[in-house]
Amino acid sequence: MSDVAVAVVGDGPAGSGVAGELHRRGVDVTLIGLGTSWPATYATWVDEVPEYLADSLAWVTPETAVAAERVRHLERSYGVFDNDRLARTVRGKVSRLGVEATSIGERAGAVDGGAVVQLSSGDALTARLVVDATGWPSALRPAPGPAQQPAFQTAFGVVLEEPPEGELGAPMFMDVRDVIGGDASIGRVPTFCYALRVADGWLVEETVLAAQPAIEPVALLPRLARRLGVPADNLLDRAVRTEYVRIPMGVAPTPRAGSVIVVGAGAGYGHPATGFSVAASLRAATRVASAIVDADQHGADIVDAAAEAVWPRSMRRTRALHDLGLSVLLELDQAGVRQFFDRFFELPTEQWAAYLRIDAEPRQVSAAMLGLFRNAPWSLRRRLAVRNPAPLLRALVGS
Ligand SMILES: Cc1cc2nc3c(=O)[nH]c(=O)nc-3n(C[C@H](O)[C@H](O)[C@H](O)COP(=O)(O)OP(=O)(O)OC[C@H]3O[C@@H](n4cnc5c(N)ncnc54)[C@H](O)[C@@H]3O)c2cc1C
Repeated sequence: MSDVAVAVVGDGPAGSGVAGELHRRGVDVTLIGLGTSWPATYATWVDEVPEYLADSLAWVTPETAVAAERVRHLERSYGVFDNDRLARTVRGKVSRLGVEATSIGERAGAVDGGAVVQLSSGDALTARLVVDATGWPSALRPAPGPAQQPAFQTAFGVVLEEPPEGELGAPMFMDVRDVIGGDASIGRVPTFCYALRVADGWLVEETVLAAQPAIEPVALLPRLARRLGVPADNLLDRAVRTEYVRIPMGVAPTPRAGSVIVVGAGAGYGHPATGFSVAASLRAATRVASAIVDADQHGADIVDAAAEAVWPRSMRRTRALHDLGLSVLLELDQAGVRQFFDRFFELPTEQWAAYLRIDAEPRQVSAAMLGLFRNAPWSLRRRLAVRNPAPLLRALVGS
């Protein structure tokens, strides 16, 4: 059994971020994971990316669009990561173990705490702090019960060699307009279409913002095909590849358990309105690593410090507001979602941009909510308030 100060289990963006940032600060840290490359297309608002990772973007567009009640151009740079470059830069020269972890447990009988990671190789690693970055769900944590099942964002995408004709042939953050001719395959579930350049072509993706239970990604193919005006078989024949997306929305922040903390998607970092977590996890990595080093230098408990840095008090208050927003979105039909985002993106950019960050100040998020409420027509206001009058009022006046 070998000892390190910190063991990070899970080598996705969140775990790699924390491990890399600790290593750069001189901490004895080991990153555990199979080293497989990250297969998903990771996009982000460029101003959300930590400066040292600016070169990890493969492609940047100065503007995207939202097509709701009107087409609105969003003048805020948006980009797609080069995943291999991002992984290399984030991890730096951190020490890595290319194995699976089979369990994480407290260090039996140790007065000074610490935890043990059992490895598939038969070895074990002990550490003062273990960072669980194994995503959601994870075999290393208890399975969520039926009452803890989150909503899911799901999407079905095709990568085409060439952008399609029309507005989906330019970067589109959300096209919430009705699909011409309708589509009964998934009933009245509201969806939107997302389109952007990727390394091997042009990605066009039909997305369910959030649904509980989840809509299976492949069930979105007929709507995507109809939106693009081509038969589904034809669309699949033309696709360079397909992308299936399934992101939990509104996973509860995971509390510290002994000497183990959770980060990233498994810790509830997926934004409750977009499902995005990569940039937030990379920003958090810097915050968590600095907190650990600082605590160690001052003789404080590094686990306490790390846990507080993952979900600081102000972020927990922000999260409560985002949860309220998610509960509203789950209630809306296609027309409601269209109205909602039409008015949301009418807000000043700094307001909607703040709402889309899990680490914005609560007052920034409630300002965006208040702005949206003020902008909304009465029909939407009624929908926003009818199910949530008390929490909505608290959000609007309290944060
Ligand atoms: C198709 C798709 C597209 C997405 N697009 C975006 C996007 O554009 N922008 C965005 O911000 N977010 C996006 N997301 C959401 C989210 O940001 C990602 O899910 C992201 O990968 C979460 O990062 P993570 O590091 O927290 O977890 P994960 O990426 O899930 O990483 C967990 C890692 O832990 C490893 N692991 C698990 N168990 C063990 C074990 N027992 N031992 C060792 N290692 C283990 C896994 O192999 C994996 O590498 C997308 C998600 C999907 C599925």
